[in-house]
Amino acid sequence: MNRLKTMLFLDEQGEKNLRSAIIACLLTSLSLMIPFSITILVFTEALTPLAGETISWQKMWLMFGIGLAAFVVIFFFSKNDYRKTYVSSYGNSESTRLQVAEKMRSLPMSFFNAKDLSELSSNIMADCTNIEQVMSNIVPQLIANVISSVIVCAILAVFDWRMALAVFIMLPVATLVLFLSRKAQNRLFGRHVEARLNAEKQSQEYLEGIKVIRACSLGGDKFRKLDEEFTEQRRVAIRVELVSGVFIALSTMLLRGGIGIVTFVGVTLLTKGSLDFLVFLMFLLISSRIYGPILTVLSMLPDLLYLRVATQRLHELMESKPMAGDTEVFMPGNTVSFENVSFSYHDDEVLKEVSFIAREGEVTALVGPSGSGKSTISQLAARFWDTTRGSVKVGGTEVKTLDPEYLMKKFAFVFQNVILFNDTVEANIRIGKPDASEEEVRAAAKTARCDEFIEKLPDGYQTMLGENGATLSGGERQRISIARAFLKDAPIVILDEATASLDPESEVYVQQAINRLVADKTVLMIAHRLRTVLHADHIVVLEKGRIVEEGTGEELLAGNGLFSRLYHIQQGGI
Ligand code: ADP
Ligand code: MG
Repeated sequence: MNRLKTMLFLDEQGEKNLRSAIIACLLTSLSLMIPFSITILVFTEALTPLAGETISWQKMWLMFGIGLAAFVVIFFFSKNDYRKTYVSSYGNSESTRLQVAEKMRSLPMSFFNAKDLSELSSNIMADCTNIEQVMSNIVPQLIANVISSVIVCAILAVFDWRMALAVFIMLPVATLVLFLSRKAQNRLFGRHVEARLNAEKQSQEYLEGIKVIRACSLGGDKFRKLDEEFTEQRRVAIRVELVSGVFIALSTMLLRGGIGIVTFVGVTLLTKGSLDFLVFLMFLLISSRIYGPILTVLSMLPDLLYLRVATQRLHELMESKPMAGDTEVFMPGNTVSFENVSFSYHDDEVLKEVSFIAREGEVTALVGPSGSGKSTISQLAARFWDTTRGSVKVGGTEVKTLDPEYLMKKFAFVFQNVILFNDTVEANIRIGKPDASEEEVRAAAKTARCDEFIEKLPDGYQTMLGENGATLSGGERQRISIARAFLKDAPIVILDEATASLDPESEVYVQQAINRLVADKTVLMIAHRLRTVLHADHIVVLEKGRIVEEGTGEELLAGNGLFSRLYHIQQGGI
């Protein structure tokens, strides 16, 4: 039960629900035996003339009556079983989805980095659906069938243990075949899951890129890729069915061989005179029916195996450790310092022995060619990731020891790409501080120079922004994100290429907004256009993950190093 519990992500309630679903199924499957037993009883009664006695019609009518009553019982049991099973599986599926969503909030950013987003969403939706189906169609029936088979076996053994043995002797053999095929099946299942994910990824890419694909007439090539992924998925799916099918057919055949064994053993015992003819007949009848439920169980096993493979990622997600740390720590000041920090996302080191200090009340600029590690540095400061070596401190406290959510309260980020939600302008600004009053939101918008364009929107602050704010210009989006940062009023501000993609006019507005935002804060400013950082208090120049120069703009320009070279190239370009 415990393994099942982890496998299906059951909570307490889910376990209870599953238990009652199993009992309900068991009742149904036992009640289904009533008509069958009656048939056998009627049959033996009908055969009494063979033994030289007369048929008791009274008995016959009684059995007929019981049979009718049995139908009513079966009806109610099945109805109950149906309801219990679905209540348990859908209830569980809801709670699993919530658990996953809750879990994602506490995971380190590195988790989202390693996994593709389409894979993550597939995790939640597809895996939960898989679990749901297994929960509703397989698990309760499977367990109930196993139990009822054992019960039947025990009853039969009371009649004649030798014949009961003959009925069930092939069961272990058939099970063994399926068990041995597990490895091959698991491997195929793994490939099937992979093929499914690839096809999903490809379709998502196709849909997301449809604009570009059309604009550049890439249709043929991209479509071919999509087509290939689907073909591969189909190929693997057929292989899976084929292999599972072969093993199921084989074990079915073995199991059905039991009928032959029953006949053989029965006839042998009959000729020896140690078996009643009617008992023999009863076993023959039973063995023609008894394998049904067992075969159903056997044919369900592959689905259960598949579930294990398919939900492996979900398990990984649920078991990965959240970043933990202290809250409510006294941190004197808000200086950010890096001491010999090295870091790698995967195998390659992207930062090597980086040391610098970003002081409170100063603007520290990070510059360097793209890919040199600037964004990585800014994200390490806020503990999106943990360093490989060295230490990152905020206000003298190792960020490794701090709870990420607590630490995040000290940071405001303004990125190049602003994420806007499909909600009103006001709600989008309020993200910076969810409990802000309307006045606070307006004030922040005003300081960030948003009010000018917001007033021109059809419904002002109540205008709906649509999918990722598609209706706003780059500069407007950027100012909304600055308004968020104002509202948050965090002591450390990180500007990652905040003005990189703006036209000169918007840049002026955004720059003004930024200048107001960063007053008296610890500022880490990443910029591509070196002109914008020339007046920073401190400039750190990076190349391939190493600091190659440091100093003020004037010092660096005089030094003839990387900064001055890049600067002159950019000025020349203009
Ligand atoms: P910059 O901001 O200076 O352009 P980044 O810090 O974004 O540079 O990237 C530094 C290096 O780390 C690059 O080689 C980049 O490919 C790699 N990198 C950045 N982000 C990730 C990530 N999320 N996962 C893996 N590698 C990354
Ligand atoms: Mg960057």
